[in-house]
Amino acid sequence: MKTLVLAEKPSVGRELARVLGCQPKGKSFFEGSKYIVTWAMGHLVELADPGDYKDDWKKWDLLALPMLPDKMKLKVIRRTSFQFNTVKSLIQRNDVNDFVIATDAGREGELVARWIMRLCGYRSDFKRLWISSQTDKAIKDGFNNLKPGRNYDPLLWAAECRAEADWIVGLNVTRALSCKHDAKLSAGRVQTPTLAMIVDRENEIKVFKPEPYWTINADFGAFKADWHGQNGNTRFKNQADAERIAVKVKDGQGTITEITIKDVSQAAPQAYDLTALQRDANHILGWSAKKTLQVLQGLYEHHKIVTYPRTDSRHITDDIVPTLKDRLKAVEKTKYESVIKKILTTPLNPGKNFVDNSKVSDHHAIIPTEEPVRMDRLSGEEKSLWDLVVKRFLAVLSPPYKYKNITLTVNVNGETFIAKGREVIDQGWRALTSAVKDEDDEDIPFQNLSRYKKGEKVQVKKISVLQGFTKPPARYTEGTLLAAMENAGKFIEDKELKASIKKGGLGTPATRADIIEKLFSNYYIERNNKELVPTSQGIALIDIVPEQLRSPELTAKWELRLNKISLGTEKNTLFTKDIRDNAVELVALVKNAKREYKPANESDKSCPLCAKKLLFNKDKKGKRILVCRSLSCGYEEEENKRDDLSKKPSQKEREITRRLINRYTSNESADTYTLGDLLKKKLEEKKKN
Ligand SMILES: [Zn+2]
Repeated sequence: MKTLVLAEKPSVGRELARVLGCQPKGKSFFEGSKYIVTWAMGHLVELADPGDYKDDWKKWDLLALPMLPDKMKLKVIRRTSFQFNTVKSLIQRNDVNDFVIATDAGREGELVARWIMRLCGYRSDFKRLWISSQTDKAIKDGFNNLKPGRNYDPLLWAAECRAEADWIVGLNVTRALSCKHDAKLSAGRVQTPTLAMIVDRENEIKVFKPEPYWTINADFGAFKADWHGQNGNTRFKNQADAERIAVKVKDGQGTITEITIKDVSQAAPQAYDLTALQRDANHILGWSAKKTLQVLQGLYEHHKIVTYPRTDSRHITDDIVPTLKDRLKAVEKTKYESVIKKILTTPLNPGKNFVDNSKVSDHHAIIPTEEPVRMDRLSGEEKSLWDLVVKRFLAVLSPPYKYKNITLTVNVNGETFIAKGREVIDQGWRALTSAVKDEDDEDIPFQNLSRYKKGEKVQVKKISVLQGFTKPPARYTEGTLLAAMENAGKFIEDKELKASIKKGGLGTPATRADIIEKLFSNYYIERNNKELVPTSQGIALIDIVPEQLRSPELTAKWELRLNKISLGTEKNTLFTKDIRDNAVELVALVKNAKREYKPANESDKSCPLCAKKLLFNKDKKGKRILVCRSLSCGYEEEENKRDDLSKKPSQKEREITRRLINRYTSNESADTYTLGDLLKKKLEEKKKN
């Protein structure tokens, strides 16, 4: 008898098959004496469409809302049905008597496997492969230590509730908004609050009025100091006040009245989870969240040199500590050789900042595996990302960055000036990453102040009055948006909620990149260099969605409940009841809303298909296009349309011509006419009448 192993996708399946000694059989599975290995291709099964439940739900109709199926139905995704059929026929083979789920070890991976098993009618016992690396050793260890499949039921429940909530809320609200406003609108449980954060920020910037202020800087030759008022303020609202004090201290002699020295020992930033790595890759390499995940997936699956990517933990468990040395050895033959040699001169003894069992749920932080790295096999992009991961890993294992902060208080003719300086004692981990300014870093200049003594006299060489302007909040980049999504609860009072949101936030680490991409493809946001700017459609949409749906706090509360379900502390049935009630409420709010959908980017042009107005937009590549505002029309054209008729029409133009023809003719043979022929024909018919 044989054991059937189901991997998440073909590339992983092939690796498992190799380690388990299976040979290829056809294109869609491998077989050996003990195991048969096959795979999903992400999801092979999905929730059925509304129209699969009732005919009433086939059409987009406000009266048919809300759509609330008693029990969610599943269906095979047509595009990959051949693979589903392969899995099904393998499950039904007489010589298969055991089943191992080897999909991604997380919520969504669990769902991929369980939905397939359910539609195949699989009801027997099964086991779970749960690994955090794709190395041969990890795979072998994992198969020697398979877990009882039912242990992961709570993960399945949470995943199903997530999928159900997205369907119930997303489809109902999307249809309600679209029908009510006769426009192609898209809303979702996570998508909409994320867009709301970007729009809110834009509104803050719009109303912001920069105000001038003045500061005074004194140059004492060997160091510089800033004027401080009695309550610590450094800014003047009007220039005259600043100038008056400048005159008072000009050419004056100062006395050092106070010296404070603070020793600072700064530990390295924590090891990466997916979101933190995506943020840094955006900041340092300019990459989108999606690209980072893609490249990282290759390092994990193909090169096997980093651990499981879709993690939300920045810690490791203590059973990993004995493997750290081998992981260091695996990256030793690189430019980091000397750093690693140095780290290995003392016993590895990482602290709570890195090793904490209580802060690891499904997977630990992203760190190198024990697989020796072969730099010549990595692409340029893979090298850049690998470098970030390794550098952070080495930093975490390096000694702290130690420096002295020295503050001098200087009194000049009764006015106070303060000079701050930093002196490095030991670069520690910072020697690795000094090129990167990290956010927690204090903004203190490296001026040498340690040679001064209290009571010493210093001469003012120069006084400058400097003008500055208050600054509006910065637009989000993908990096800062990811951070904001992660901390969606930062305004939340409830302590428990706050803690869980630190874990969950808006969406999960694995899905955030896709949500941001969705906002782009729905034309709700655009990229302006690195900055994310909402389009007028995005702004108009946020103006009409119910407050409940745009609020990050409320979304985070649902996320918290999903988390509890995955831990087995909340019942999934309660959740699904509440999410249905919520959808009913949201649909009612949309139906009864008084506000109109008024995007500010309407053009004068009308749509040739439906006569509604066309909206100005940009496509993914930044090319300007016009898109029909109407629901389900889908017409779009380039803003500066091809005038040269000798040029071949594009695929898209041909498609639109076909649809125009079909729309204005009743006979099936319409496809054989050109648009010109048809127009002529119609005109002649008109003349006859
Ligand atoms: Zn149209």
